[in-house]
Amino acid sequence: MRKQIAAANWKMNLSWQKGEALLDAILAKEYQLTANRTAVFAVPFPYLHLAQQKLQGKQNVFVAAQNCSNKKSGAYTGEVSAEMLQSLSIPYCIIGHSERREYFNETNQQLAEKTDLLLEYNIIPIFCCGEPLQIREANTQNAYVAKQLEESLYHLTTEQVQKVVIAYEPIWAIGTGKTASKEQAEEMHAFIRRQLAQKYGQEVADSISILYGGSVKANNAKEIFAEPDVDGGLVGGASLIADEFSVVIDSLK
Ligand code: PGA
Repeated sequence: MRKQIAAANWKMNLSWQKGEALLDAILAKEYQLTANRTAVFAVPFPYLHLAQQKLQGKQNVFVAAQNCSNKKSGAYTGEVSAEMLQSLSIPYCIIGHSERREYFNETNQQLAEKTDLLLEYNIIPIFCCGEPLQIREANTQNAYVAKQLEESLYHLTTEQVQKVVIAYEPIWAIGTGKTASKEQAEEMHAFIRRQLAQKYGQEVADSISILYGGSVKANNAKEIFAEPDVDGGLVGGASLIADEFSVVIDSLK
């Protein structure tokens, strides 16, 4: 079975005190987590080590960074490298979130560089892709997402690409309360998997987890995650509320 993942993306929210209370409240509940059914918390950089300590001893619950530098090391004030994340034993890192692409001008090429560095340091990239509203309205979302995959991931070897988690997040559904329908999500996820199969073969494509993101919450997670090509979610707003995110974790296949 493909790995099913409920990933919280805190973005630039919460003090550590509030974040810690949130983690406590979420972790106080009982979940049926396994190696193939996991929860991930993408917290701000200053909390990585604290969150990591907090989760010590918890099975199948992991900490993620929300970004990393496309440079290996050196005079890049304010940047955080993949090597630094590895030195804290951080297993996952989100890259290419649409907010990074839009507000910090991240390009597909830079994301290819970040992917390479993360893999070099044995960190699993959670690679975000997804189209803006005008592309969806023009019905050209497939070509748009295919190009994002091609330019950032298709230089990887078969062995490397199998380590990547993909998150499809239609920009028009992020933080808007407007979710893609389960049919729209499945359609794009199946398309992404077909693209991966064309490039790397069906077996490899079938092994790659593809998360859905965009206004996932307690009352819609189950039906979206039930779709055959949806392997969990990347959750912003609802991940900041313990009762919401607990249900999201429980909604995993
Ligand atoms: P949202 O954000 O759940 O608040 O829509 C998702 C994301 O940006 O990862």
